[in-house]
Amino acid sequence: MELLKEKILKEGSIVGNDILKVDSFLNHQIDVSFLNEVGKEFKKRFNDVKIDKILTIEASGIAIASIASQYFGNVPVVFAKKSESKNLDKDVYETNVYSFTKGKEYSVKVSKRYLNEGENILVLDDFLANGRAALGLKDIIDQAGANLMGIGIVIEKGFQEGRELLQKNNIRLESLAILESIGNNTVKFR
Ligand code: 5GP
Repeated sequence: MELLKEKILKEGSIVGNDILKVDSFLNHQIDVSFLNEVGKEFKKRFNDVKIDKILTIEASGIAIASIASQYFGNVPVVFAKKSESKNLDKDVYETNVYSFTKGKEYSVKVSKRYLNEGENILVLDDFLANGRAALGLKDIIDQAGANLMGIGIVIEKGFQEGRELLQKNNIRLESLAILESIGNNTVKFR
């Protein structure tokens, strides 16, 4: 997606040698008109499948999924919760995810009320690195007996193992931009 590539080049910055920071439009401040284009593009990519719900993970996935939902007929958006909360239902699907950016494992939960057997689920998220968040969401969908129709990612870090892991699990993956490398303070696309 050309607009996304332009924004990454113009507004992105590299932290260390493997983190791309895009806080100005995706991870801190949200560029709503840009996310509308992202939503349209996801719809184009997954136009051949019927989607009942979109599943994502808090926090950055929520805006992406909510705006995209409008192009999928306003299907409900469910987000997996990372934080402990007294508010959360007791009856949950739960899985553990190793966080690439935090360097530690955390548990994510989805109330059993919001994922049902036989539903067609599209997973959307901001980044794909080693694929742990994506596989965690697949585990939750499997526990619910729902169908994972595909995973849509805004920015895939092609130099990490996420794509390979998802392919091994026969998961359809659509990434709107794939980074070949982000070394030497330079972003290269695949
Ligand atoms: P994975 O589970 O695929 O290893 O990592 C994906 C998650 O880690 C994403 O949801 C995102 O929150 C975070 N992440 C991984 N790499 C990056 C990065 O380079 N930049 C940002 N902003 N987040 C990242």
